[in-house]
Amino acid sequence: MSAQEALFHSLPADKGLYMPTPLPELGASFFEDIAGQSLADIGFAISKALFGDEISTAELEELTHHAFPFDTPVVELETGKMSVLELFHGPSLAFKDVGARYMAALMSHYSRRTDKEVNILVATSGDTGGAVAMGFHNVPGVRVSILYPSGRVSDLQEKQLTTLGGNIQAFEVDGSFDDCQAIVKQAFVDADLNDALSLSSANSINIFRLIPQGFYYVRAYGQVRQYGKPVVFSTPSGNFGNLSAGVMVQQMGLPVAHFIAATNLNKVVPSYIQSGTYLPMSSVATISNAMDVGSPSNFVRLAHLYGDDHERFKANMSGYFYDDEQTRAGMKRIYNQYDYVTCPHTAIGIMGLEAYLSDKDSNVMGVALATAHPSKFKPLVEEVLGTEIDVPERLAILGNRSKQSIRIPAEYDAFKESLLTSVL
Ligand SMILES: *Cc1c(COP(=O)(O)O)cnc(C)c1O
Repeated sequence: MSAQEALFHSLPADKGLYMPTPLPELGASFFEDIAGQSLADIGFAISKALFGDEISTAELEELTHHAFPFDTPVVELETGKMSVLELFHGPSLAFKDVGARYMAALMSHYSRRTDKEVNILVATSGDTGGAVAMGFHNVPGVRVSILYPSGRVSDLQEKQLTTLGGNIQAFEVDGSFDDCQAIVKQAFVDADLNDALSLSSANSINIFRLIPQGFYYVRAYGQVRQYGKPVVFSTPSGNFGNLSAGVMVQQMGLPVAHFIAATNLNKVVPSYIQSGTYLPMSSVATISNAMDVGSPSNFVRLAHLYGDDHERFKANMSGYFYDDEQTRAGMKRIYNQYDYVTCPHTAIGIMGLEAYLSDKDSNVMGVALATAHPSKFKPLVEEVLGTEIDVPERLAILGNRSKQSIRIPAEYDAFKESLLTSVL
């Protein structure tokens, strides 16, 4: 199996998940002079270890630097003890930019060698679509069709999906997110459609959206290594792609002392850590809606990384979960105590870290991942904090752009027909 196959097909024919085997060993010396390296430098070095000769060194260096023109800074809340890793400095203001942009850069690299256009289909309930749209905008040889549920994504999220134009096309579906996902799934098994178009997916199951998420754990380690303390990461989680990436890079050699799985009431993984029994459930709606996942698609990958051994899992990871009331209270307290504004997801990550520091081990350097910029959830954040918050320029300008979408009923045939009409 080549990296190229895993990139374009996402899922192997046996219905498992792709993993690079064996994981490359980065070696202790790799981390010695890590402090001064940018996200792009780190991405290049790890990509080199993964791809070997499949992509030339010069091309790999070019594509990683193109993918990551932004940094992922660590901001300290309590010096030498607790910090936040800000992952929202990319174009769509959420950590999903990192995976989407790396995947786009790789696909662009491979698609330059063929003359057949790649058609990416993606269903979104909000954040994924924005990161994918912005990551793939103007990438030659790639066309992206995004399906989203009409009236069920926020205004700003909708603008991110529908205002770019060019190779990005939005299908506004009269139905739910599940309807959108069902249509995309059906498209991938439609022989007729697959004959006409070269279809590919950009969902979080794709290993090449996951791998680059390991780069920012390394970047964060570089920024806190000076304290000489064991490093603990707390990751607000839904599908558990972000956390799987952290565990993968730990297994490549990154010195991580412990992980914290922080969730909302969709707490199947914290429950598994405690009980040893994994019980997926229907998702529960919360204010941290990007984490409303009852059956996380990366759980099998995560369990596999621990050799499907509950004891090993539990020794390396603790779980904490919070309901909406606790999340609101946490956002407010974090703002008052540290003068730091968070989105609800990030607040859950920080609360999980605080709980770990007080319950289990306070002599570590804790790093909580900030998964989205608070302005992406402006109405909620302003209501909870009782104050106005700033919106970065790149998000604010979207407000004036006009929406372009193709409205369809939640029926597969309607989608197929309008996709074929629009791309052929
Ligand atoms: C997607 C998302 C998450 C959950 O990440 P997973 O990799 O699915 O666990 C958390 N916070 C925000 C803001 C997100 O967009």
